[in-house]
Order: sequence, then C-alpha cells, then structure tokens
Amino acid sequence: MKHQPRILIVEDEPAIAELIAVNLTHGGFTPVIAGDSVAAQRELDAVLPDVILLDWMLPGQSGLSLARHLRKQARTRSIPILMLTAKGDEPDKVAGLDAGADDYITKPFSTQELLARIRAVLRRRAPESVSDSVTVGELMLDAATHRISFQGQELKLGPTEFKLLHYLMKHAERVHSRSTLLDKIWGDHVFIEERTVDVHVKRLREALGAAGTMVETVRGAGYRLTSLTTVGQPAAAQSGT
Ligand code: CA
Repeated sequence: MKHQPRILIVEDEPAIAELIAVNLTHGGFTPVIAGDSVAAQRELDAVLPDVILLDWMLPGQSGLSLARHLRKQARTRSIPILMLTAKGDEPDKVAGLDAGADDYITKPFSTQELLARIRAVLRRRAPESVSDSVTVGELMLDAATHRISFQGQELKLGPTEFKLLHYLMKHAERVHSRSTLLDKIWGDHVFIEERTVDVHVKRLREALGAAGTMVETVRGAGYRLTSLTTVGQPAAAQSGT
C-alpha cells in the first residue's frame, strides 16, 4: 500500500479545517485535525505527522509560539511546518520563518496551491547531502558530527543555517545568487521568496559571531564566503592563532 503522508492541521475554525481535510484526503494525504495548540501537542505525542499546517491565529497559544516550541523539541524539530496566515504583510511572514516555519500560505488559498506547497516541503526535506567536513580559514565544519568551530570555539547553528554554511564553505570564494542558494539549500524554491535567503544569512552571521564577516554580501549578485576578510583584525592571509 502506498504511504499516505500524514498532515496535522492545526486550525481553530472547523469549517476551514474540514475543507482542508477533505482536499488533503482527495490529494492522497491522511489529515488529522487539532483545534488548538493543546490538541496539536496531544496528536504530536501520539503520532508524528509528515507535515504540520499551522494556523497563525489560534485560541490560547498562537501558531507562531507553537512553531517556536516545536523547533526546540528534538522529537518535532525536523517536521516541516507550513504556516497558514490571513495576514499578508511581510513582517509577519518573516516572523513565521524566524520562528522556524518552512513556508507560509496566505488565506484564502486554492486547494491546488496548498497541495503543491505540501508536496514541495516534503520534497525539500534533505536536498543537499551533508556527509563531509570542510575548513575555510579558521572556520571548520564537520558534517558527520554536525559541529562547527571558529578558532577552536564551538558555534551553535540552526539546521537551515548549518546547511547554508556548509554549502558556502564547500564553494568558498565564489559568489552565489539568492536563487542558486534557494535551489541548493531549500531544494525547491518555487514558493519561497528570495528574501528568505536574506533572513537566514542574517541569522547565520549572528550565529557565527566574529566569523560573521566572512559571509559577504556582493551587491547585486548575492553572497560569498571568504577567508580573505577582516576577522577581528586586518588579515589578508591567515596568520596562526
Ligand atoms: Ca484561526
């Protein structure tokens, strides 16, 4: 029997939840409905879904807050989250992505669009293989142990920032356009805006601390990781620590 991906719908408006569920069933998915964050958590404790559709506005704990919580838990960290939002403005979308959502859909949306986006997040789960280690200047990344260090100090990065840094390090000193990065890091960028790259680059720089300046913005072109930069002090070549 074909595996029907399980989709957890966290939506407090029963009419909308039911409509989505019917469409998902027709689209070959197994929908499960939760009316609020508490019910959602109960479902997650029982069976892990393949994708979570998360309404932004929920009674009690908001969808945004639940997304943040799910990203912190080892058990739910890697489940793709699609935010459903009635608000179309950019700050909210960025906040959703910052909270750990993989994508968002603005209501009202068509059934086809919803199904396409669900398929996209499922496809996008592991596009760039992470299986080796790489060193650029004093920045080291070990994909096997998922460790990053700069000047011997370990750094903590989120999963998307890790993939982004890994790609930039493997292809250091080269300029990568936002659309190339979307292709390589996210795997399928049909529905992701290029601005998403900027959000994650900003987070990557923050997480890198002093090494953040190694990630350069190349105006009108994209981003580049370089070892030939000023990290703390002027340094054209790498001097020993
Ligand atoms: Ca709602």
